[in-house]
Amino acid sequence: PTFAVWFRNDFRFHDHPALEAAWEAAEEQDGSMMFFFHLHPDFQHNTDTSNDYFFQTVSSFKEQCEEAGLQLHILSGTVEEAFKTLQERTSSLKEIFYIEDYTPFSRERDKEAFRTLKETGVRFTGTPGSYIHEPDEIVKHDDTPYKVYTPFSRKWLQEDKPAEADDHHDRFHNRYHPHQSLSANGEQAFRQVLSNCSRKWKALGEAAALERLGEFMDDRIEYYDRERDRPSVAGTSRLSPYIRTGALSVRRIYHAAADKGGQGAETFIKELAWRDFYAMIMYHFPETADKEFQEKFRSLEWVTSKSDLKAWQEGRTGFPIVDAGMRQLNETGWMHNRLRMITASFLTKDYHIDWREGDAYFADKLIDHDPASNVGGWQWAASTGTDAVPYFRVFSPVRQSERFDPDGAFIRRYVKELENVPDKWIHEPHKMPEEEQKKAACIIGKDYPEPTVDHKLERKKAIEMYQDKGE
Ligand code: FAD
Repeated sequence: PTFAVWFRNDFRFHDHPALEAAWEAAEEQDGSMMFFFHLHPDFQHNTDTSNDYFFQTVSSFKEQCEEAGLQLHILSGTVEEAFKTLQERTSSLKEIFYIEDYTPFSRERDKEAFRTLKETGVRFTGTPGSYIHEPDEIVKHDDTPYKVYTPFSRKWLQEDKPAEADDHHDRFHNRYHPHQSLSANGEQAFRQVLSNCSRKWKALGEAAALERLGEFMDDRIEYYDRERDRPSVAGTSRLSPYIRTGALSVRRIYHAAADKGGQGAETFIKELAWRDFYAMIMYHFPETADKEFQEKFRSLEWVTSKSDLKAWQEGRTGFPIVDAGMRQLNETGWMHNRLRMITASFLTKDYHIDWREGDAYFADKLIDHDPASNVGGWQWAASTGTDAVPYFRVFSPVRQSERFDPDGAFIRRYVKELENVPDKWIHEPHKMPEEEQKKAACIIGKDYPEPTVDHKLERKKAIEMYQDKGE
């Protein structure tokens, strides 16, 4: 019999429970293993930054497999076509193992795959592995889901944490059977996708992920609680792209942090709990993927403005910290958490643009895009989410900038026009006297925009917009 491992968002060999389960089944039943990835048609034609990074991670994992004498087969076409091909071309396919993930998209796709092979007797076996605690594990006494982070996290912190899966990396070969190429179409479709991927990523995949984890644990986690809010320093782990692609197991990260201990690790672990929290919310309330969690805010009247949306996307709002954040996103595919909060607040509260527009832009541009965390973050900033920022506490982009980038080091890194602007004016360059503008080679209105809105005024409008909904 053949036992297949379906790789989805888990491109690694360490702590891979589906791999472990497949190997054990093959050992017990004297069978063989094979690996595959399905190139879903919904993603095949979009090679924006997020997918670009994802596909290149898949490709690097494929190479990693090849170097180890293994093969990651690629299937293409609809779910039905792909799984029919898999079944027809694999001799005595018995069971398919995979790590569960829970977005509405994944659940729908999985159902389709089950339906396709229902009559064939091929079994599907999901294992945990994408989260520290699975979404149905941490629930209230009455078995209903939590809706607020703090009590959720209290329970989450108390629960025993799952151990890592055994690492069978070196032993796969005894059960690995080199199957013929499964699908020439799949291989060709994947080559086509890769040829449309343009960006160069420096440190892709498992080895790079483990190295970054080690470096964070050795040198930086200690300062995490103090440095995590300052975008100009490398105060956070920057592990998110590896978590998103599964090049790194979150359970490995958790255990490394717990072993380390201390205040930094404690704060860091609570951030890992946020990820589980948002996944849990999306699992229990899938409609909130595109609807406000708080029903009373489902009829907010957002403003449509293509020009404002474009100014925000391109980092030309006239608010340096917002522009620096957006340019960091556009240039690197990643944005610091503090800036995600500031830019999201700005789009929704200063431009009054629908948070779904921001969510969609981030989904295309973030190399760590995670539907649950992204929607959670956006609904938090838009005050429509579970325990979101209250709508009357509107972030001031200038105050945030003064607080979290006091010397403007981050702003200057990404908004080159402001490079020579003195500290005194860096947060509000439009207040610079003309003489100073000339000296700094930054003429406001020409080299860098005037503020596109009056924050005080927009803040008031935003509060009224929410108040109108019966608050
Ligand atoms: P660290 O501070 O080192 O944290 C370690 C890990 O904990 C992160 O990699 C992440 O997995 C998890 N984590 C930390 N903060 C959060 C959080 N607030 N919510 C959920 N998980 C968290 N995170 C994503 O992974 N994907 C997204 O698409 C995403 N979109 C966001 C959109 C908005 C508007 C906001 C406000 C936040 C969003 N976040 C998202 C959460 C957070 O900004 C990132 O996880 C974090 O910046 C990643 O950098 P890091 O790995 O250095 O984080």
